[in-house]
Amino acid sequence: MARLVGGVDEAGRGPWAGPVVAACVIIPNNVHFPLLKESKSVSQHAREKLYEEIKSKTIWGIGMASNKEIDEANIVRATEMAIRRAIENMPQKPDFLLIDGKDKFSLPIKYKTIIKGDKKIAAIAAASILAKVWRDRLMILFSDMYPQYGFEKHKAYGTRLHEKMLTKFGVSPIHRLSFKPVFFAKKNEDNILLHVCCAPCATSVVEKLKEKFNEITLFFYNPNIHPKKEYERRLDEARKLAEKWKSKLIEGKYDIRKWFKMTYIYKHEPEKGKRCTLCYAMRMLEAAKLARELHLPHFTTTLTVSPLKDEKRIFHIGKILSEKFGVKFLEEDFKKKNGFKRSVEISKKLNIYRQNYCGCIYSLMERKHGYCKGALKERSLF
Ligand code: SF4
Repeated sequence: MARLVGGVDEAGRGPWAGPVVAACVIIPNNVHFPLLKESKSVSQHAREKLYEEIKSKTIWGIGMASNKEIDEANIVRATEMAIRRAIENMPQKPDFLLIDGKDKFSLPIKYKTIIKGDKKIAAIAAASILAKVWRDRLMILFSDMYPQYGFEKHKAYGTRLHEKMLTKFGVSPIHRLSFKPVFFAKKNEDNILLHVCCAPCATSVVEKLKEKFNEITLFFYNPNIHPKKEYERRLDEARKLAEKWKSKLIEGKYDIRKWFKMTYIYKHEPEKGKRCTLCYAMRMLEAAKLARELHLPHFTTTLTVSPLKDEKRIFHIGKILSEKFGVKFLEEDFKKKNGFKRSVEISKKLNIYRQNYCGCIYSLMERKHGYCKGALKERSLF
């Protein structure tokens, strides 16, 4: 009697979510697939056609191991489980297996592994088609349950879109926690990046955020502050506070040239004018970028503590950045519920230096003279 040789391949070892799927296929001697190639070398349309054809003309079985099993064992052992299940699901068992790759498995049937077997052996190529189409279809079903991740597009592979959605929405029940990006997303789920405009404003904000978040990473990015000495003084106060709270403080670049270049056209504007919108946006943009880089799902800013800041504009900027970078902006007006008053109280108690002007040279002039020189010139025209 002729030996029944089953080709084995799997799909979904690399993705961050969903199961790993294995297929085993025995191609009868009288059956030929002239267009058969391994799953990645054919178009989706051709793959779908081949899938139906293979299922109707061969002896086959499909098995899978869940994301939980992958986390508990590891991906190689989970693949082994999926292969065993694929064989169990076959109406007729093979006598020998040819398996794609080079991993060692403990299986009830003797086997040989073949590197790039899916390109060399028809039965392995057929198994690769079954496993891939079956898994892709499953991921499309999962995308109905978890529409926020875009599984129907990337099938849970590590694309930019998947990374962005993972940061934004956290992990789902089908994510593989043992995979690095998922592990970090889970770890950071209750963490937030806080843009700190100055230490006094950070005091009451951190007090509030501690009610909701596990870890607060502080980000001091304020190239608007003039002169440099003043910048250093405010940064020093933020450092002291971070040390006191045992919080991580990230210091942004003192990019004053960039700030001047950006806001120059609005130098005549009074505080709360158009220049301030650009100034908020520039600082919040860096915070959103950094939150994404650090896989922190939330970000916000201390800017709303000040009664002189326009929270509606800050929220609007936060919303745009949240869309762009896939990190949630915590929309909170921190001056509310006595937030500003509380910041004054805590700052006094901790003996924190509180500045008497917002930060930029124009606000300094406004504070000193009641207006900035540029604004005076402008006003004298009327
Ligand atoms: S007044 Fe304050 S918010 Fe407005 S531009 Fe100057 S530093 Fe920025």
